Amino acid sequence: MVLTPHLLVGAAIATNIKFLPLALVLAFLSHYFLDFFPHLEYSIENIQEKRWKKSLPEFLKVFLDISTGAFLIFIISKNFFLAGTGGFFAILPDGLVLLGLIFSNKLLTLHDTFMKRIHFFKDRKISLFWEILCPSLIIAVAIYFLMG
Ligand SMILES: [Zn+2]
Repeated sequence: MVLTPHLLVGAAIATNIKFLPLALVLAFLSHYFLDFFPHLEYSIENIQEKRWKKSLPEFLKVFLDISTGAFLIFIISKNFFLAGTGGFFAILPDGLVLLGLIFSNKLLTLHDTFMKRIHFFKDRKISLFWEILCPSLIIAVAIYFLMG
């Protein structure tokens, strides 16, 4: 899924759950839960195929995506540091996928396989309607709880 909804959900969790260690674990786990829902994704094919020389525009897309989420958290949340930390933990699973592309490691490969299974709807025919509606609803709910 696009990182902005992940960031917002992580931020909303960190803001609303008072016990920080639990909040960060839940923010991290929320990534897997959200990736299950149908969603649109922008292409990061060059990164996935490790064509690093061609991957700069894709890293820029990711950077823009993270910046959008961080900016929204900044203007909506009352405690940017706390909310931002939650957001950071919520995008870590995709960071692990990136790490797995750079270093080959058994655990990271296992994680990658798990991530592919989580993307249940990816290879199934789902209309664009759901692929847009699901992340939009997730963003709306996250913003609602982030505003407190
Ligand atoms: Zn993901």
